[in-house]
Amino acid sequence: MSDVPTKTCVACGRTMTWRKAWARSWDEVRYCSTACRRRGVGPVDLALEEALVTLLDGGRRGALIDADDATRVVAGRIPSPAEELREPARNAARRLVATGVAEIVVAGQVVDPSRARGPMALRRTSR
Ligand SMILES: [Zn+2]
Repeated sequence: MSDVPTKTCVACGRTMTWRKAWARSWDEVRYCSTACRRRGVGPVDLALEEALVTLLDGGRRGALIDADDATRVVAGRIPSPAEELREPARNAARRLVATGVAEIVVAGQVVDPSRARGPMALRRTSR
């Protein structure tokens, strides 16, 4: 199981596991789904990522921030309501885990970003 290749979806930050349908194109696969391919990573997604990094840097070392807090920062600048930014903020949080910037913590434990459910708390990686 562990020798099946994996990579991270550039849009949602979830882990993609190699499957037969991708046999010929695995090297070029960037998105886990049609929805992620359509959505891509736009300016709002990048703004959410940036807001998360700012929040992470603003707190104490190792302090937890809530992914939802980034939605409030970004919603002030664009016409979308914060509610619509919740899932994009979670995607941004997963991308930060993929790039080694942050880790997601649930009930005091670092969790796999692909499996995190419910409120998403992040902190700077301790490395
Ligand atoms: Zn995806």
